Formats: sequence, structure tokens, C-alpha cells
Amino acid sequence: MMATNVVKEGGRTKASLDLLYHISRELASALELRTVLERVIKLSLENVSGSSGSIIVLDDKENPVDSIIVVGDKVIEETTEQLRFTLDQGLAGWVRKNRQAVRVPDTDQDKRWQRGEDGKAEPKSVVCAPLMVRNQLVGVMTLTHPEVGFFTEDHLNLVQTISDQAAFAVLNARLYAETQRRAAIMTAIADSARAIGVSLQLDEVLNTILQQTTKALDVEVVSLALVEPGGKDLVFRAATGKNSKQVTGLRIGLGRGIAGWVAQEGQGTIVQDAQKDPRFLSDVDRVTGYQIRAMACAPILTQKKVIGVIEALNPIAGAFDRSDLSVLEGIGNLAGMAIEHAQLFEQMEGARRRYLDLFEDSIDPILITDLEGNIIEANRQAELLIGFDKKTLQQMNVHAVHKADYKALGKDMSRLKEGASVSYESVLQGKGSDQVNIDVYVHKISVEGADQLQWILRDITERTKLDNLREDLASMIYHDLRSPLANIVSGLDVLEMMLPKDNDPTIRSVLDIAMRSTERVQRLANSLLDTSRLEAGQQIGSPEPTQVIDLVQMALDAVAPAAQGRGVKLEAAVPKGMPRIMADAEMMRRVFINLMENAIKYSMEGMTVIVGAKRTQDYVEMWVQDEGRGIPKADQKRIFEKFARVQVGATGSTKGLGLGLAYCKLAVEGHGGKLWVESEVGKGSRFAFTIPIARTGRLQ
Ligand code: ADP
Repeated sequence: MMATNVVKEGGRTKASLDLLYHISRELASALELRTVLERVIKLSLENVSGSSGSIIVLDDKENPVDSIIVVGDKVIEETTEQLRFTLDQGLAGWVRKNRQAVRVPDTDQDKRWQRGEDGKAEPKSVVCAPLMVRNQLVGVMTLTHPEVGFFTEDHLNLVQTISDQAAFAVLNARLYAETQRRAAIMTAIADSARAIGVSLQLDEVLNTILQQTTKALDVEVVSLALVEPGGKDLVFRAATGKNSKQVTGLRIGLGRGIAGWVAQEGQGTIVQDAQKDPRFLSDVDRVTGYQIRAMACAPILTQKKVIGVIEALNPIAGAFDRSDLSVLEGIGNLAGMAIEHAQLFEQMEGARRRYLDLFEDSIDPILITDLEGNIIEANRQAELLIGFDKKTLQQMNVHAVHKADYKALGKDMSRLKEGASVSYESVLQGKGSDQVNIDVYVHKISVEGADQLQWILRDITERTKLDNLREDLASMIYHDLRSPLANIVSGLDVLEMMLPKDNDPTIRSVLDIAMRSTERVQRLANSLLDTSRLEAGQQIGSPEPTQVIDLVQMALDAVAPAAQGRGVKLEAAVPKGMPRIMADAEMMRRVFINLMENAIKYSMEGMTVIVGAKRTQDYVEMWVQDEGRGIPKADQKRIFEKFARVQVGATGSTKGLGLGLAYCKLAVEGHGGKLWVESEVGKGSRFAFTIPIARTGRLQ
């Protein structure tokens, strides 16, 4: 053979050059790692007449990633594990450490040679050389011959030369293989990503993940477990294979079994023989009914948190390789995102369904519109109330179904758009001809990120009817009370006249009390009747030019006994020349009496109540001023409402109905005037009101 001849002839340079040329030509065309390794060994064996050879390929960290053994013409695959220990302790290890070629004439005499290290045959003569690219060790090549001392120094040099030349090719092929492997992983993950991202339905997402994993790893069974909300257990949620039903629902504690280990550690693992792994739980085998051999398991992660694990079992090829775990981990990451999205979507759907149920089942009619009032949704009650079906309503604007209160809503519903809640009473303009009174309550809501308006239209026809009925009934009662009361008053008058001159003073005082009380009841009945009339918007009965001083005098006469009883002084400060006012004298008298009775009631013994009047432009302002307990600022508006009463201190008086001031306000405003209070707690109050001057009025 060529090389042997060359050595024998001593034409070393030319022969070496020839060899190098030959090697580089042989290797240049090969990129696939296995092919390159096989060619390198075969070329070397040819040149040194060896009988068997091996190469261990190392990665950047000098860990074995691939290897090949060639015996004669035969290539033996799957040898990396087998060669790993020679790299740890054997001759190859020595070469890796010392980075130089070595020749062993008789393996029986050299401790560095591990027995059985190089396959079946028992080598005698061995050469071993590092494959170096610059300073990087790419692999170790070992050649053997059964004859003791067969390899010479020349052989060793030759092997070193071939190794130097081949190292580049091996490195290239290794990098190429890595690129290929990465590309395959990326393609598998990208394929899965495409498929997994399609659905948002959780069950569908889980199934797609299983299918993609089966396809990418070519395995018999895939199963998927999720961490329970409490974070203590893993529960299998989906599985492929004939016994998938038994697997789903299976629960294992975190940290138990291989899946539990992966979930706890947050890192994937490959187990080539599950039955031998101490972490393996054989009870899972029993449930599933098939025997698990090899197993790859990766965590399912979202935002670095483990939410589950994915398991691939029993690869069709028999064993998993390194890239399978990368693919599974990639799928685990994708699955995390997809599952999280699907779960969020499910929650959102749930909330949406609940809202829809509430919306549909609400006893109130509800309309949802856009910001312009165009109806988007209507519930059953709204259909019933308005009389149109949902489809028809969806063609309409909310302004077409009721009289909108533009003042409350703001221009172009600006108040609603600003986020205010608005409510008002209105009348429905539905399909039916009957008038339907409604309470409208409307505010802005956000539906799936879009601003909309929610209108609640409550039918208050019944309530309005009842209110009216009640008011009518009250007016009737107040009205009908008047004539019997008038009879009592005149009866008492007659009795008074019939009283003998030398009467018993007790009879006189009993009669006085009866007369005053009756007058009070009469005033109350009249005020109540006036109140309900004024509230209904009726005009003042009979306004005519009236002297203020007369009104004041009448009121003073009426309240004098009460003032006397409480030891309160009364003073009138009405200047002469006061113009007459345009008023219903009886109503005005009652206004004065109410204000004065209050002033007396809330004064202490010895205090003074002053009644005054003055002209202000076209009005006469009149007032009742006391030095009593006063009214807190916060209550000064409220006291004019019907039934409003203010409690001052724990022992504050709570007598009365809270109707007096409401009546006074209505009566004054009915006359075109104003009523207000100025007051300070502890210092007293001044109730004042204005009434227009009678146009035909002349000076007093
Ligand atoms: P009533 O006197 O029947 O309670 P009013 O409408 O006349 O009803 O008065 C409402 C409330 O206003 C009273 O309960 C009282 O708390 C307060 N108030 C009215 N007048 C005075 C006053 N002169 N001084 C202090 N508090 C007053």
C-alpha cells in the first residue's frame, strides 16, 4: 500500500504531501459527522495497516458527544456510552489530558490501557492521537493491531499527521451536526407553536399539545399534568393512548415520581429506563396498564413558574436522544403560555356569561347603548316594557324610547361621558298607548374595552299612581276636616257668648284652651291642604293687597299665650309706611305663626323674639328673629324639606312633624318670594322671606 511503501522508500516529504492531499480530498466532500469519522478511521487504518480504530468526538467543554468504532470494514454504532470510561480513565483520557500522541507497543504491559476497552478483540499494539484544531481538542483517535510492537514511531507520526489534517473536518462536521440538530429542534417547536396557538379553548389547547409532542418526539404516549391551585398536587389533565381515560384525573404529590420531581425542580429530565430510576412510581404503570420504558419529562412554565409537566413515554426508536429534551422543553414553554391564555380566556368567558345571565334575568329593564345612544343590547324586561323585540330595538336610539332629560344628561350626554351617574324621571315612548312613567338610571360602563352606556328603565307607573292617590286622599281629608272644624269654632264662640258674666274662671280657661287648640288644628289642616295644592302646582287662592302690620298683629295675637307660657318676650319692629304686599292674608298669617311658634319653641325663658319688616326694592322682606339654640350649617337646607327635623344635643326637643317650614317655603314661593334662614348655633336664628309689593299698593 501507498503509505507503507513511502515509509520504506524514505521519500517522506512527497509521500506525506500525497497523503495530506488524499485525506483532504476524501474529507472535503463529507459534512455528515458519521461519514467523516468513518472515512478518517478507514484512511488511517489503511495507512498504518491497523485492524480496528475508534474516534471519540468532544464538544467545546471536552465532553463526549459522539463516537464511532470500526473493526475491519464494519462500523459499530451507539458506542458513546461504551467509550466514555476510556475517556475518563483509559488511554484516550491520558491523551486528552496531555494533548499528545502516544504509542503502546503491548497493551498488556501498559496500565493506561483498560481491559476490554476497545470492543471485543484484545488489542496488543495501539497508537492514540489527539484531534486538535489550534488549541482546541476536538476528539481522540485510537488505532489498534493484534501483534505486539506492530506500530512503529513512523506509524505514530503518520497517525498524528492524519489526525491534524482530519481535526478540521471533524470539527466542521460536529458543528454542522449541532446546527442541524438545533434547526430540527427549532422546526419542531415552531410547528408546535403554530398549532398550539390556534385555539383558546383549554381542552383543545391541551389536545394539540399532546398531538404536537407525539409528532415531534415520535413516542407512544404523551400525558400532561397541571399543578393544582393549592400548589401541592399535580393532576393529569390529558393523555394520549388507549388508557388515556384512566390517566386523566390521576393525582400525584409534588416531588413524587419523575413528573413530581420535574415539577418541583423546574427542569426537564430524560430517563432511558424508568423501571430502574429510583424516582419512578410503579403505581402509575398499574393504573395506565402499559409499561413505561424510556421517559422524557419537561416542566410547563409561565413567567418562570411551573404550572405543570409534560411527559413523553416510550419513543418508537427505543431511546431518547439529547435533542428530544430540548424539543420537549420548548413545547413546555409554549404550552405554558397557551394554557395560561386559555385559562384567562375561560375566566373571562365565565365572567361574561355571568354578566349576561344577570343582564337577562334582571327584573329591571336594561338597555346597553353606545355613547350616541344607539341601542346595542336589550334584556327581556326591556323588550316587555317597551313592547319591541330586541332586533327592532337594536335599530333604535334610546332617545326614541323615552323622553330624555337633556339637562341631567348634559349636552350630547357629556355628563355621562365624563363618568357621572345620572337619574331622572321620565315617560316611556313605547309601542303601547298608555302613559308609562319611568325612573331612568344611566351610567357609563366598559364592555371589552369599549365605552358603552347602561340604561336602567324602571316602570314607576304604579308607584306614581299610588302617590297621586295618597295625595288626593290626603287633600280630601284636609278639605273635609275644615267644615266640622269651622262648626266647632263657631260652637265654641257661641258657648263663649253664652257664658254668664260672673262665671267660674275655670270654665273660662277650659274654654280658652279648647278654642286655641281648635284653632291650631284648623291651621294645621289648612296648611296641609295648601301644601298639597301648592305641590300639585296650583295657584294661590286669593292674593290681594295686604297690610304687613295686620298680618304681624294677627300672628302675635295667636302666639302670645304660647310665648307667655314659656316666658319668652315678643317684639314687633315693623316701621310705618310699609307698602302693602300682594298676598293671601290667611296663608301669610300662618307663615308668620309657624315661624314665630318655632322661634318661641327653640328659645329659653327670658329671651326675646323679634318680628320685623323692611322694604327691599319691589319686595317687602319680613323676618322672625330669635336668640335660641340656632341651627347647624349642615342642616340649614334640610329643615325646609317635609318631615325634616334636627336633633340638637342628646336632649334636644323632637316635638313636631317637620311640616311647618316646608309649608312656609311653598307658600312664600307660591307668592313669588323667597324664604331663607341665617343662623348660628347657640346664638339664634333669623328666618326671613320676601313677598312682592302689591302694584296698586299705597302707603300705610
Ligand atoms: P317642626 O317644628 O314641626 O319640627 P319645622 O318644619 O317647623 O317642623 O322645623 C323643622 C326643624 O327645623 C325643627 O325640627 C327644628 O329642628 C328646626 N328649626 C326650625 N325653626 C327653628 C328655630 N327658630 N330655631 C332652631 N331650630 C329651628
